[in-house]
Amino acid sequence: MSSKINIAIDGHSSCGKGTLAKNIAKELGYTFIDSGAMYRAVSLYFIREGIAPGEVQEDPAVLGNIKIEFKFNPDREYFETYLNGENVEDDIRGLEVSKIVSKVSTLSEVRTFLVAKQKEIGKNKGVVMDGRDIGTVVFPDAELKIFMTAATEIRAQRRFEELKKKGIDVHFEEVLHNIRERDYLDSHRQHSPLKKAEDAITLDNSSMTKEEQARLALKWAKGVISAYQL
Ligand code: C5P
Repeated sequence: MSSKINIAIDGHSSCGKGTLAKNIAKELGYTFIDSGAMYRAVSLYFIREGIAPGEVQEDPAVLGNIKIEFKFNPDREYFETYLNGENVEDDIRGLEVSKIVSKVSTLSEVRTFLVAKQKEIGKNKGVVMDGRDIGTVVFPDAELKIFMTAATEIRAQRRFEELKKKGIDVHFEEVLHNIRERDYLDSHRQHSPLKKAEDAITLDNSSMTKEEQARLALKWAKGVISAYQL
């Protein structure tokens, strides 16, 4: 029997889920999957093709034209997102996509389409996936579930600095507003809302460094893995 486990990391927007997931995956030699990138790639496709969400509800077959892949970039030590063969890693992170992604993610047709892909990726274990519904819907049987959060202003400040470092010109208020709006939409949508799985461990990282978080989560992960090896 494989001693690999699946690790589900859910939580609010911009609280460092991706960074934590990436660090744990690297240490364990697991595959890191950013499920938010998949919702972002679908959103980018809609923007580029001029598709309104209502059209998807009328004709879900349009989703059949979307192919999303992840390819490892050794320079960035990161799985980058490809949309129909094109590297869209940078395009999916901008505010244009951030502004519509939480609306696109309320569409049950989009969720069903992406959740099927995410379940497939996790079927052989050894995956660390971050998102909003990983512990509740995608991997309800994940051996370790972490629910991350941090104070809203702190999350906005971190995201603001990240965007500025990338040379993206934004105002702090705009970033804060976007985070509040996404939190609200993610927690109140009808289909798979963001909520803590009953068996998830909460990690509030408001006053923790990235290293402290990674150390703690790795301790949890190694504890679970050794229990599975017994
Ligand atoms: O994780 P990230 O913030 O990049 O995700 C972008 C958006 O995708 C979230 O605001 C959320 O609306 C949506 N999402 C989701 N379910 C997931 C992952 C992301 O609804 N599993």
